[in-house]
Amino acid sequence: MLTNYHTHCEHCKHAEGSVEVYVQQAIIDGLAILGMSDHLPYPHHDYGYRMDFAEIWDYIYEVREAQEKFRGRLRLLLGFESEYLRSQRDYYEELLTEYGVEYLVLGQHFYDIGGRWQGAYGISDTAECITYARSVSEALDTGYYSLLAHPDIVGVNCLDWDRNMDEMTDIILESAIKNNVPLEINANGVRRGIVSDNLGEHYMYPHFKFWEKVAQAKADVIISSDCHNPSLLYDADVRKCRTIAENWGLNVIDVLEIKKV
Ligand SMILES: [Zn+2]
Ligand SMILES: [Zn+2]
Repeated sequence: MLTNYHTHCEHCKHAEGSVEVYVQQAIIDGLAILGMSDHLPYPHHDYGYRMDFAEIWDYIYEVREAQEKFRGRLRLLLGFESEYLRSQRDYYEELLTEYGVEYLVLGQHFYDIGGRWQGAYGISDTAECITYARSVSEALDTGYYSLLAHPDIVGVNCLDWDRNMDEMTDIILESAIKNNVPLEINANGVRRGIVSDNLGEHYMYPHFKFWEKVAQAKADVIISSDCHNPSLLYDADVRKCRTIAENWGLNVIDVLEIKKV
């Protein structure tokens, strides 16, 4: 069964296409389930690279309208991709109850360490990867997140793999298994191409060293497009991810178990 739970749209200001255009593309591609998961805006602060908070209901209504319009043709889910910020727990809970949001994808692009902001993209010391992993683990422990997006996103920093990276992997993997949250192979990593370091040539993410441990642990894995353009919803790179996952012996599942709060 073909599915995609990590999908953006024009609301975030760095993607193209309305919700409906993604749904039409999903039908063309033969997807049985499409999850919309645009970047979550916050009422207390504008973190940028996403919709304004004032627009949140436009997005929600757009997805709900499409759910009505395309009922019986595919299953459309209302979600968000969100960082986890400890101070915003009430908000996440409201989203999953009062706002009627069906699922959250954890995309830990940045996190809070004792009031100091750290971006997962700006790490220069592998010890920081352990802090990133702990923030992911704390997030999954809340039970709010149904899917862990690009768990190996720190690969963008092209740091040489070392013991800290192993520890990061162990922390994330253990938490994902304990909380029954699948780990995502993200096609945007493949789209970014190959890099070279002390381990030779490989993708920044999915990083083969990370996924070696995932395969050994037989943890559940989901493949996502993370598309910001409808033409990428089920493109050659998503299919390449399927081949990569198969070659690495990963336990790929297609249907996400949605967490209830
Ligand atoms: Zn984005
Ligand atoms: Zn995303």
